[in-house]
Amino acid sequence: MNMKTYEQRHQALTQLKNVILKNREAIQLAIQNDFSRSPFETDTVEINVVIHEINYCLKNLKKWMQPKKVKTNLANWPAKSYQMAQPYGRVLIIGAWNYPFQLTVLPAVGALAAGNSVVLKPSELAANTAELIEKLINENFDPQTISVKVGGLQVSEKLLSERWDKIFFTGSTRVGQIVYQKAAENLTPVTLELGGKSPAIFDESCEMGVSVKRMVWAKFLNAGQTCIAPDFVYVHESRKEEFLQILKNEISQADYSIKNENYVEIINEQHTQRLVKLINNQQVVLGGKFDIAQRWIEPTVMTSVRWSDPVMQEEIFGPLLPVLTFSNLQDVVRDLKQRPAPLSLYFFTENKDRLQQMSEFSFGGGAINEAIMHFANPHLPFGGVGSSGIGQYHGAESFRCFSHFKSVLVKSTLIEFPFKYSPMTHFKKRIISLMLRLG
Ligand code: NAD
Repeated sequence: MNMKTYEQRHQALTQLKNVILKNREAIQLAIQNDFSRSPFETDTVEINVVIHEINYCLKNLKKWMQPKKVKTNLANWPAKSYQMAQPYGRVLIIGAWNYPFQLTVLPAVGALAAGNSVVLKPSELAANTAELIEKLINENFDPQTISVKVGGLQVSEKLLSERWDKIFFTGSTRVGQIVYQKAAENLTPVTLELGGKSPAIFDESCEMGVSVKRMVWAKFLNAGQTCIAPDFVYVHESRKEEFLQILKNEISQADYSIKNENYVEIINEQHTQRLVKLINNQQVVLGGKFDIAQRWIEPTVMTSVRWSDPVMQEEIFGPLLPVLTFSNLQDVVRDLKQRPAPLSLYFFTENKDRLQQMSEFSFGGGAINEAIMHFANPHLPFGGVGSSGIGQYHGAESFRCFSHFKSVLVKSTLIEFPFKYSPMTHFKKRIISLMLRLG
């Protein structure tokens, strides 16, 4: 059942916030049990992100729900025109495992704010977090408002065989295509938050010290298992040696060794093995050690990498960093144009034409002289383009993502002009063409 009123939605969001705040430690613990991420990091990158989004929605919800007045053209005069937000209805949200709480609950905030009835399907790969989300939601909410179904492929397929009014999916491009096909059977609108190979480009002019520091943090956060992590680096030939030197220092200072607070496991053995196969020892200039049983891979930097190498054939989603070089930025533009548009792109440069240069690349969202942090600005809608996704969310865009905006014309009955009615006369035709010309 959809929540029509502001009070209902406000109440649902406030309840969600209270449940999360009351269970902060349980959420931290579940993720620690899933892949050893520290409670502090989970607080920063999952819980606080969701709480900020709820607060932002609570602050703006009344304004978003009001009909928005738009201009009326001359042919409709005298009238007023509005766009009115309407909940889609029943919404299915399917989450990924790498930020298992945030990627499932954050879209739910927008869906509830927009008044929908929500079903969540967290990823089965982060099983402790999935079970906790199920418990927290199913024990505290009316299932007509929001409920959780846990499980893997079968549960996901069963849910996708139902009729939904909107499907929001976060995950791989491969599964995104399956979801899109299922949604097409009922013409269900979708938002697809997918992945890709996001480049970090360091040009001739970049300020190397702070740039590498920011990139290293973004790359190795969550052991590289972040959809918007830099996947690989393109560095200008003339700055390569300096780049590698600073990169080595930054990685060793940050310390990603086992049992350090920065240590995050690879989600499972299968993914650890997949990543290990991408390491080419001849190309390794830093790292390269791993422990499959502990699901750990050292931050590993590989140089002299080419597009034909295995590590460049798929999204890495782990702590491996291939480094490619270039001498002319136009070659990078050409290389990237031939490939699927990534979710993010990071450009490290002091060039004054950098916004113009950035416009030559196609990508979902990104940053100049920063990496990942665009995600944390609620005023920047988040999402991919092409094979990295369809649609956007975060902040006001989340409300739009889960609303249909119906257009309504409100006409006065006080005046009625005869021009559109038959019988048509020469005079009426001239008036109509004049109106069409004037807009
Ligand atoms: P995945 O596509 O394997 O799984 C995502 C969800 O889909 C899970 O809940 C899973 O149970 C379900 N699923 C898996 N196979 C399915 C099928 N055949 N039919 C229906 N449902 C199915 O993705 P993942 O491994 O959980 O996550 C990693 C991928 O997600 C990476 O590509 C990453 O870039 C991307 N990602 C994107 C974002 C984003 O915001 N754009 C965020 C995180 C991760």
